[in-house]
Amino acid sequence: MKIAIYPGSFDPVTSGHLNIIRRAANIFDKLIVCVMVNAGKKPMFTQEERVDLIRRVTKDLPNVEVDCSADLLAEYARRKGGCVIVKGLRAGSDFENEFQMALINHKINPGLDTMFLTAESQYMYLSSSTVKELGSYGVDLSDFLPEEIIPDFQKRIKINP
Ligand code: ADP
Repeated sequence: MKIAIYPGSFDPVTSGHLNIIRRAANIFDKLIVCVMVNAGKKPMFTQEERVDLIRRVTKDLPNVEVDCSADLLAEYARRKGGCVIVKGLRAGSDFENEFQMALINHKINPGLDTMFLTAESQYMYLSSSTVKELGSYGVDLSDFLPEEIIPDFQKRIKINP
């Protein structure tokens, strides 16, 4: 069974993330979406909340599992039996950093490859931080966030303007 891991902060999961999840779930037998701890970022949603939001928007995808981890990604993948890390590539700015991480992860765990899926053109410039910025100005987010989590986002952005 081919298991892939899609790691990220997902704070919150956007339509761009969901597009990558759907496409990767079509390619692999099982896709584990893993909310990773990033000590450098102060998140809007807790790790558990982010997991819950992703579970809700992927409930129609039976081969998608949602998890969270504070482990090193290469170690996490080994523990889960994952052989591929899936990454979404937006404009060229993602490339340098992702390329370096892919090489490092492969060195730490030689059984692990990274596969890049190019962002769909309408999501090319979409990131969780853009959504947070637009949300704070009251912009309509229906092109950027999965419909079912917009109310959760609106509630949170009011609490933390
Ligand atoms: P963000 O940059 O939105 O905070 P994350 O750090 O959670 O996103 O990113 C997780 C993964 O999803 C990364 O591989 C990132 O390149 C990818 N990704 C993020 N936004 C998009 C998008 N709009 N289209 C395709 N891939 C994306």
